[in-house]
Amino acid sequence: MGIRKILTDKDPALHKVCKPVEVFDRKLHKLLDDMIQTLEEAQGVGLAAPQVGILRRVVIVDTGEGILELINPTMLETSGEQVGPEGCLSVPGKYGLVKRPFYAKVRAQDRDGQWYEAEAEELIARCFCHELDHLDGIVYTQVMDRFLTDKELEELE
Ligand code: ZN
Repeated sequence: MGIRKILTDKDPALHKVCKPVEVFDRKLHKLLDDMIQTLEEAQGVGLAAPQVGILRRVVIVDTGEGILELINPTMLETSGEQVGPEGCLSVPGKYGLVKRPFYAKVRAQDRDGQWYEAEAEELIARCFCHELDHLDGIVYTQVMDRFLTDKELEELE
């Protein structure tokens, strides 16, 4: 299938709680491969399965050093605070001001079902929080302080 269509936050799929992945089979691997292609094409930092219409607990994050595949992720630890602009491929053209932890540590399974932990700061910690929220049907616009103004957007670009 390759590149999949990214749904916008008007789609009901973005507002549902996703089910855990129980079978680590070729179908899951295909979903992950497609999500990676879709994220690269869209030039995003992270993508959650519900954004492509699959209501399973699957997230990918481009850390800048490679793609992390997070299956059934849970947040283990957070600390600190950061307030900054945040966007979403499902909310095109907009950015919001969102408060997130500065540091986040997650536990997740890889595509073969092996558990591992990953930790991050700044942008990637923000991304972990944002993508895990998607698995519970939460879009950042529901937790942001406000949208950025046009002037603030210009300064960002
Ligand atoms: Zn998003």
